[in-house]
Amino acid sequence: MSNMEHDRWSRVKGRLRSSVGEDVYSSWFARMDLEAVQQESVHLSVPTRFLKSWIQTHYSEKVLTCWQAEMPEVCRIDLTVRSPMRAAATKEAPAPAEHRRDEHRPAADARSHAAAPAPSNHDALGGSPLDPRLTFASFVVGRSNTLAHAAAKQVAEGRRGDPVMFNPLYIHSGVGLGKTHLLQAVTWAGNSGTERKVLYLTAEKFMYGFVASLKTQTSLAFKEALRGIDVLVIDDLQFLQGKTTQAEFCHTLNALIDAGRQVVVAADRPPADLESLDERVRSRLAGGLVVEMAPLGEELRLGILKSRVVAARTHHASFDVPQSVLEYLAHAITHNGRDLEGAINRLLAHSKLNAQPVTLEMAEHEVRDLIRPQEPKRIKIEDIQRVVARQYNVSRSDLLSSRRTANVVRPRQVAMYLAKTLTLRSLPEIGRRFGGRDHTTVLHAVRKIEGLVSKDVTLSDEVESLKRQLQE
Ligand code: ADP
Ligand code: MG
Repeated sequence: MSNMEHDRWSRVKGRLRSSVGEDVYSSWFARMDLEAVQQESVHLSVPTRFLKSWIQTHYSEKVLTCWQAEMPEVCRIDLTVRSPMRAAATKEAPAPAEHRRDEHRPAADARSHAAAPAPSNHDALGGSPLDPRLTFASFVVGRSNTLAHAAAKQVAEGRRGDPVMFNPLYIHSGVGLGKTHLLQAVTWAGNSGTERKVLYLTAEKFMYGFVASLKTQTSLAFKEALRGIDVLVIDDLQFLQGKTTQAEFCHTLNALIDAGRQVVVAADRPPADLESLDERVRSRLAGGLVVEMAPLGEELRLGILKSRVVAARTHHASFDVPQSVLEYLAHAITHNGRDLEGAINRLLAHSKLNAQPVTLEMAEHEVRDLIRPQEPKRIKIEDIQRVVARQYNVSRSDLLSSRRTANVVRPRQVAMYLAKTLTLRSLPEIGRRFGGRDHTTVLHAVRKIEGLVSKDVTLSDEVESLKRQLQE
């Protein structure tokens, strides 16, 4: 390479770096080399096929533009995978910094290597810990989770190379209703027996693994390893934060889905309500199968309690809970599976410590703080829109449209007001759900209706009636 070419290539890399940002640059471009420049085409190389296809699908325009800024006559970029000989020479050292061919930096590279040894793929990925009790065998199926269970089972039983039926599988529910249980069951089942690799990560672990690997410059290893798995299971997606991580999550999601790998996600709300996520990610998440798990019914709660007692008896053979106590607990503890588990643990502890059999009286005393008043129902923005549209005889799309006729404007304001007062959604989120309106528009609507209900009896009656319908 001539000096001129070398300088030019450095400038192109500089442009790329400032256009995509340091993180992305070091992940995808740090190992890209210039092979040759002909009049109108530039020949670049990367060490792996994966990198090649990734750059081609996501960044080819960008690379070309950066070249054209230096050499306007360039109209084509040829990207190839470097020969195995050279790839083999660098194979043992996955950290991107160590692959640079700038020979004048060996000392720096050696230092960084010593300071931060590249973790193996396993370390870089290290799945979140799994609880051996959370399997399909211990998962009780009932009306509220039949579909989620069936879909999870289907995913778990798939084999490598099978066509993927729904991707991603997105399960959502309130807290303690069995999402983590189901996801870990998929992971256990998938990893035993079949040749597939299933990785379970909490969103926090995904972020942590990603951020940590960026710091040790092994994000490339992290990403490549991520893509070496067959099923990626991500729990508590609502905790995914940070622009870079989200962009990477989006890339990972797309890459896995496009490659026919299965993705399973759980969150405490539907995709459309993941406020902090970018619209593209949300729609990709909503594009597979979205299943909601409803609150546990009484029968299901009874089933869960029974299975917990059975599990406890494997270690404490004398532990027994009369049917009447189980029924009482199933009736009284309505909130979530965690409290059911807690109740059984307390009865077990109490009967062990006091060497007493479990009675109804003791159960009532032991679990009294787990019994909470009925929680108000979770109201959704769609429900509000549906009920308001019905009441005012307009269509839901009218409410979301930009029409400004009086017969639509008032119902729309009422609906926004109800969305603000009956849900925990933020003003920008509500604006978005009402046809992409600005948060100031929502604020205006909320203030307007607040002002009117104190003066206008008809409107205030209408609003009360709407609230009742929604809370039923
Ligand atoms: P989430 O992740 O939705 O908050 P978890 O999966 O952590 O809920 O469930 C909370 C507790 O309830 C766990 O101990 C779990 O085993 C139990 N549980 C929930 N649903 C079921 C079910 N259908 N069968 C058996 N146990 C369940
Ligand atoms: Mg969970």
